[in-house]
Amino acid sequence: MSSLTFGIIKPDAVKKGHSGKIIDKILAGGFTIRGMKLIHMTKKEAEGFYAVHAERPFYGELTEFMSSAPCVVMALEKENAVKAWRDLMGATNPAEAEVGTLRREFAGSIGENAVHGSDSDENATIEVSYFFSKLELV
Ligand code: ADP
Ligand code: MG
Repeated sequence: MSSLTFGIIKPDAVKKGHSGKIIDKILAGGFTIRGMKLIHMTKKEAEGFYAVHAERPFYGELTEFMSSAPCVVMALEKENAVKAWRDLMGATNPAEAEVGTLRREFAGSIGENAVHGSDSDENATIEVSYFFSKLELV
């Protein structure tokens, strides 16, 4: 059954001009884009989005980075969308990401790693609705 996941093209990839190439790979990978917009998060908005990581040592660095410049937020539909999108993204650490994955190709470090993806259907629903209203989803 087809389902939705939530993705972000992070500030590092947007700044480097990689958004178009990443979107090409999303479409070539068989995803249907149901929502997409360019936003610039405030620190507070980034903190709310990453609240599950509040106790992690990199939380400050992560929320600074995510609010440092614009990013592209996306609602993506595919069969088993959460897993399919994580497979296309690759491992969190680009040094461990497989050839052909977005992080292998576009990420510079474990912190500035080009893309975000939901880790479960439940979180996908929460994350899509954190950024998109009903009207913004087709
Ligand atoms: P993923 O994005 O692959 O789901 P996590 O949920 O574990 O990974 O972490 C969320 C984000 O926090 C990562 O994508 C990355 O930007 C950042 N991050 C994770 N681990 C580290 C780390 N050890 N040092 C710095 N930033 C990190
Ligand atoms: Mg995660």
